[in-house]
Amino acid sequence: VLMYNMLTGIRIAVSRCQAKMSRALTDEDFKARHKFSFDIVGNELSQRPFYKKYSTGNELTPSAKYDFKFKDYAPWVFRELREEYFHLDPADYLLSLTAKYILSELGSPGKSGSFFYFSRDYRFIIKTIRHSEAKFLLSILKEYHAHVKSNPHTLISRFYGLHRVKLPHGRKIHFVIMNNLFPPHKDIHETYDLKGSTVGREYPEEKAAQKPRAVLKDLNWINRGRTLDLGPEKRALLTEQLRRDSELLKQINVMDYSLLVGIHNMQRGNRDNVRSNTLKVFSPDMPRIRRKPTTIKGSKSPEAIALRRAMRESDPKKLGDETIKLPEEDTGDRQSLIFYQDEGGLRATDEANEPMSTIYYLGVIDILTPYSIVKKLEHFWKGLSADRHKISPVEPEEYGNRLFCFMKAIMRGGGGGESFKPE
Ligand code: ATP
Ligand code: CA
Ligand code: CA
Repeated sequence: VLMYNMLTGIRIAVSRCQAKMSRALTDEDFKARHKFSFDIVGNELSQRPFYKKYSTGNELTPSAKYDFKFKDYAPWVFRELREEYFHLDPADYLLSLTAKYILSELGSPGKSGSFFYFSRDYRFIIKTIRHSEAKFLLSILKEYHAHVKSNPHTLISRFYGLHRVKLPHGRKIHFVIMNNLFPPHKDIHETYDLKGSTVGREYPEEKAAQKPRAVLKDLNWINRGRTLDLGPEKRALLTEQLRRDSELLKQINVMDYSLLVGIHNMQRGNRDNVRSNTLKVFSPDMPRIRRKPTTIKGSKSPEAIALRRAMRESDPKKLGDETIKLPEEDTGDRQSLIFYQDEGGLRATDEANEPMSTIYYLGVIDILTPYSIVKKLEHFWKGLSADRHKISPVEPEEYGNRLFCFMKAIMRGGGGGESFKPE
């Protein structure tokens, strides 16, 4: 139900904004919120195509399969971001996101209790976020917009939209739509979530052996002797972009973000089928199929509890299970971006800038955690038992500098390489 509501809301909200002539942004656009109220009207509706489902006379009350409210935040700003700076084709965007199928592959990978869903073509990720994160994103939207405008090659998460679904019992679920850093057509053989911190930053190697798709951390990177093999040209470009990006992150006073690194080894190719070519999909709009209710284990955060409840209260028989085929080739839509130009990623190069057989998929993710009281406390408690400068929650200036230094150090020839020693 939640997925259906999210997708229906996006479809209506985005296409309404898109239907208007584009225009220059105003200050008001950064504060704008558009509300939609969806109502179940009559039961004959399920037979009609969706675009005919608006209840007659009241444009603002589109009818749908469920009653819910939908809020679209700063629609004009996100539209400009998508079209002007992220070069997304509007029709493509809507189609990818609101197609019948959604891959529900990642589930809830982090500690935060956020849920992740892929669009059916694997290009976009929907991530549910806390209310505080949504508020924070809105509060920095101007800075973010300005940064993206002057840094078309930024490595920071591309936010395509911020929305909220409100269920009839009052639960509110905020979510963002962002780019999937990983490609649909290449296996990722190793994934690292790097913070430049060493305390507790290790995924147990014994477990990793059994789970090829595990997200590894800083200490795994160091202990496995990994380097980012980039020749002088790419190294200089990446260093400069990361420097600029970390300036923004310090300016907006965030921490806890990470550099996500996916590694594809071209010699290994797609043989291992780590990223199986046919993935399970979740289709919110399917005819009834008998299945047990989906259970979501894990986090006790209010958002996760709300989601579990929403799932419980939904009609599990409507959740279908199917498989879909992902594209075999690069879709080519990222070729104009320096760091995403080689099969959607960045190909390793040697000291003569000649290509090597590794492709990196890089990006800075999870940037919506301001250095708040909570983090200050965590810093205090963790700091009692470990070195205050190595633990992950440090203040934003130090956090940014530390991750940037780590990045420079792990680039082969970039001032450290495999000899990186965390101080
Ligand atoms: P926590 O706050 O506990 O770190 P979270 O719920 O905020 O977790 P993220 O850190 O944003 O989640 O992401 C968790 C994992 O999901 C990442 O380590 C990565 O494997 C995957 N992931 C997140 N964003 C992306 C993205 N844009 N592209 C590909 N994978 C992603
Ligand atoms: Ca994270
Ligand atoms: Ca987070």
